[in-house]
Amino acid sequence: MSSSVRITKSAPRPNWVSTRNPCKACAPLGATLVMRGIAGALPFLHGSQGCATYMRRYLISHFREPMDIATSGFSEASTVFGGGANLHQGLDNVTSQYHPALIGIATTCLTETIGEDVHGLLHEYQAKSKSDEHPVLVHVSTPSYNGTHVDGFNDAVREVVEQLAERGATPSAYVTNFVNLFPGMVSTADLRFLKEVAADFAMPITLFPDYSESLDGPSMDKYKKIPDGGTTIEAIRATASAKASIEFGRTLRTKRTAASFLQEKFEVPAKRIGMPIGIHESDVFFAAMEKITGLKTPEKYKQERGRLVDAYVDGHKYLFGKRALVFGDEDLVVGLASFLAETGVVPVLCASGGKSGALGRSIAEVTTHVRENIVVREGVDFMTMAEEVELKDLKPDFIIGSSKGAKLARELGVPLIRVGFPIHDRIGGQRVLHLGYSGAQQLFDLVVNTLLELKQDSNSIGYSYL
Ligand code: SF4
Repeated sequence: MSSSVRITKSAPRPNWVSTRNPCKACAPLGATLVMRGIAGALPFLHGSQGCATYMRRYLISHFREPMDIATSGFSEASTVFGGGANLHQGLDNVTSQYHPALIGIATTCLTETIGEDVHGLLHEYQAKSKSDEHPVLVHVSTPSYNGTHVDGFNDAVREVVEQLAERGATPSAYVTNFVNLFPGMVSTADLRFLKEVAADFAMPITLFPDYSESLDGPSMDKYKKIPDGGTTIEAIRATASAKASIEFGRTLRTKRTAASFLQEKFEVPAKRIGMPIGIHESDVFFAAMEKITGLKTPEKYKQERGRLVDAYVDGHKYLFGKRALVFGDEDLVVGLASFLAETGVVPVLCASGGKSGALGRSIAEVTTHVRENIVVREGVDFMTMAEEVELKDLKPDFIIGSSKGAKLARELGVPLIRVGFPIHDRIGGQRVLHLGYSGAQQLFDLVVNTLLELKQDSNSIGYSYL
C-alpha cells in the first residue's frame, strides 16, 4: 500500500514560554522505577529530600503500593560544598536498615547542576567502607532538565546492564538458552503478559526490569522493607550470555540502549521493535518470538487475534472516522496511534513531552494507510496541545493518555480514556493491559464503550440498543 499519510510537524512558537502543565515527569523518577524492578534493590536519590518525596507520592498514587526511596537529603551546605558526606552517610544508613542486595543511585537536578562526581564518590565509599555488608552499587545520571521520566527509565536500564553484565555468567545453573527482553516502561499487567508469552513459547527470558510483583504483589501479612520480586542481579549479569535481546521502542532508534550495548560489547544480537499494541505491532512481536525460538505462535494467541479481528468488525461502525488526540510517552503514543488507525480512528494529534526526534517518523511508519492529516508534536505540554487543537480546528471526539489529561479533556468537553502512566484518579492504573492481542481487545472495548456511553448519555432518548 502506498504511503499516503501526511504528518504535520508544527513550527516552534515564536515567543518562548515556560512549560505550562507538563506532559512528562522527571528523569530520576523513571530510574527509581527501574531499581524497584531489581530483586532486593533499593532506589536512592542523591539530592534534595523534596525530590524523593515527590517521586514517592507520584509512584504510590499510581501503583497503590509502598515505595521507599532513600535520599542523601541535600542541605544548603551540601549544595555549596558538595554532598559526598551525605551520600556516604546515607549509604551506610540504608545498608544497615534495609540490607539491600543492590542500591541504585540516581541523581537529581541539583546534584547534576553542581557537577557532583558521583562515580568518584562511590569509589571513595567502597574503598573506605567498614561495613560487613557490600551491596552492589549502581549509578545513573538523570538530570531532569535533559529528559523525561522515560529517558530516566531507559538510561537506568542501560546503565544497570552496562555496569553489571559479565561475559560467561548465566542466570541460573539450569538456564543457558534464553532471551533478554527489555520492554521499556510498561504496566505491571503488561510485564505479566510478557512472562506468560515467554512461558507459552517455552523460552526462558530475562525480563528487565520486572516490577510486576514488587509494585503489584499480593497483600502481605507482614510489611517487608524491600518487597519480593524483580529481576535478579545474577540474571542481569548474565544478559551478556543471552541468545538474543528484544527491546521495545520505535523512538529509541537514536539512543544508546541496553540491547545495543550488549550487541556491541558481547555480540548478543539485538532486535528492536515497536511496543506491541494493536494487531500490526503484536504481529511483529510474535514474528520476532517465532524467529528467535524457531517455534510457531501457540494456538491460544491465534485465537485471541481472531477474536480481536471479529471485535474490530463488530465495532467498526462506531469507530470509523472518529478523531482522537493521543498523548503521553512517545512509544506508547506510537503504539496507540497504530492501534487506533487500524480500527478506523484518525489520531489527529499525537503529542508527547518527550523529545526523541523520532516521533514523527515512527507515527508515519505505523499509520501509512491513514489518509487524513496527522499532527505530531514532540516536547509539548498540555497547554500547547489545547492551542494546537484550537488553531488547527482538530475537533477530537476523545483523548487517550494518562490521567494528567483530565483537565484538557474537561476543557475540550470530550472523554478521556485513561491508559499508560500515571493514572492517579482511578484505581487499577497499574493493571491496564496494553500489549498483545488481549491488550488491544481490552483497549478496543474501552474505546468503543466510552463513545457509546457518551452517545447514550448525550441524547434525550437514552437508547438501549446502539
Ligand atoms: S528538582 Fe529535578 S529531580 Fe527534583 S523533582 Fe524537580 S525535576 Fe525531579
